[in-house]
Amino acid sequence: MPTDIYQNLIELSLKGPLKDNHTCYQILDPEKTELLPLLQSAYTLRKRFCGNSVKIHILNNVQNGLCKEDCQYCAQSRDSKASIETYPMKSDEEIMEEARNAYEKGAFRYCMVFSGKGISDRRINHIASIVREIKKRHNIEVCVSAGTVTIRQAQILKDAGLNRLNHNLNTSENIYKRICSTHTYEDRLKTLQSAKQAQLQICSGVILGMGETRDDIIEMARTLHNLRVESIPVNFFMPIEGLPLTLPTQLTPEQCLRILCLFRFLNPRTEIRVAAGRELYLRDMEVMAFYPANSLFMEGYLNTRGKSRRKTLQMLKDANFTIESDKDLDALLQRENAMEDTLKSQEQDKDIGYVLTLKKGKDLRILKSHQ
Ligand code: SF4
Repeated sequence: MPTDIYQNLIELSLKGPLKDNHTCYQILDPEKTELLPLLQSAYTLRKRFCGNSVKIHILNNVQNGLCKEDCQYCAQSRDSKASIETYPMKSDEEIMEEARNAYEKGAFRYCMVFSGKGISDRRINHIASIVREIKKRHNIEVCVSAGTVTIRQAQILKDAGLNRLNHNLNTSENIYKRICSTHTYEDRLKTLQSAKQAQLQICSGVILGMGETRDDIIEMARTLHNLRVESIPVNFFMPIEGLPLTLPTQLTPEQCLRILCLFRFLNPRTEIRVAAGRELYLRDMEVMAFYPANSLFMEGYLNTRGKSRRKTLQMLKDANFTIESDKDLDALLQRENAMEDTLKSQEQDKDIGYVLTLKKGKDLRILKSHQ
């Protein structure tokens, strides 16, 4: 492969989405391209459009489990036997406290996630009032993930000051029927269109490692480009015990990095998040993901734990990334280190992520864990 392929990739990407799949195959194929120059090219684009900073997201699993849908990859689905903590919507007080916690920990965005396919108008109005209150109290962006929404519901959230609506495509159109029978790929597209029409920013991503082909991966990255989404969370399938979908964990760290590069070349201006499975799949190559990607989740995922805040922040600092926050990275780290001195055993207990571990009640419900 001539060395100027890497420069060409940047130029092609700047002209619009890479037109032919042949170039995309090259990005995914270790026989055709080398990883380090590929990461460097992806970083050139990331730096140009997103700078050198990383956006930290903290998730609040506002309502967990009890879902009537049958998404095969999801621990909250009706078919799942995973032993997760289930609960209906948290109280406003609990949600507000967790928003404050996210802000204090340096989060750029606080993401409230509700299980279920969709949501009633009454619930949307309730969420809108919570969004309004969070925006009044903290300088933090807010994202809501509440299943399918109509244009009118999206408009209510937009009027309340919501910054983004999350609704993942999850996989390619091809595969969708295999992973869910209770709603369709088109249902998901419709919600994204509603959010666009309400002029909300869209966060929509994928879960990789569910048996997709290279063509499926390329199609997902292209579809998200065509939908002009502002943010793409790239998740890797979490093989939680009890899930209907059981697949061997096949993706290697190198493949994950190549996929992230592909998403960057096809979406050069977009916020790309290394989402669930960051620690589990990338292992010791984790920090390299931030050359193509510019965003992460801290404090774990919906039902699984991630590595500690201290280690996440230290990783970014060591690689000379900055964070997008009105908190200072050094000050956040100092605080985490001080906490580690006093709470060493608890912190060590939390400091996992390379091994798939389910969250417990105290991880999911900060306020309750203090009572
Ligand atoms: S992904 Fe959402 S809709 Fe599907 S089972 Fe999980 S919570 Fe329900």
